[in-house]
Amino acid sequence: MPENNSRKTGAEIIEVGRRMWIKGWVASNDGNISIRLKGGGFLATATGVSKGFLTPAMLVRLDRNGRPAPGRNRHRPSSEIRMHLEVYRRRPDIGAVVHGHPPYATAFAVAGIPLDRNILPEAVLTLGAVEVAPYGTPSTDEIPDAIAPLIECSDVVLLANHGALAFGADLLTAYHRMETLEHTATITHLAMGLGRVKTIPKAQMKKLMELREKLGIQGRVKIKSS
Ligand SMILES: [Zn+2]
Repeated sequence: MPENNSRKTGAEIIEVGRRMWIKGWVASNDGNISIRLKGGGFLATATGVSKGFLTPAMLVRLDRNGRPAPGRNRHRPSSEIRMHLEVYRRRPDIGAVVHGHPPYATAFAVAGIPLDRNILPEAVLTLGAVEVAPYGTPSTDEIPDAIAPLIECSDVVLLANHGALAFGADLLTAYHRMETLEHTATITHLAMGLGRVKTIPKAQMKKLMELREKLGIQGRVKIKSS
């Protein structure tokens, strides 16, 4: 199970929140970030705060069951924490979850178009095919239920009419997956605008998969044939 030092973890969350806000992935108070803590429990961003201006007091300690730890928090956790907890419950290998509304990836989520075409080696190696989970009402169990089947075979999920979710063994890995997702969505959109999207040929895909194994790239990817 991934382990994290809580003070260092808090600083990492604040830095990742700032980067997400600067990149325009989280308008207003959108988005949320969480980490699985050493010894159980979680540290997560509070509800109703901008991810661009986080302070340590805006991070909420949660117990093993995802409930706010009594007497330790000035803020309430985000209602979207439920989908983070669903990821942690199903994937013991995951130590951090990042959720945002990056514009290009979210546009694909709104259009209901999965990012599952093998167009860029880096995206194939780190993300694989990214599916769109069915729409769910925020703050209910609909989103955790919708993402549940996709979590098992991928580390990135698009949320229909909503945004994107990325996770990893640590926060930087989760953040980088979100960055690669948005980059891939941007390139895909631009290529679609040019009127032609050529995918990596099957024989080359086989070589990429061999390379993935050789490099020991972590995480779960689902690959669709070209
Ligand atoms: Zn959201």
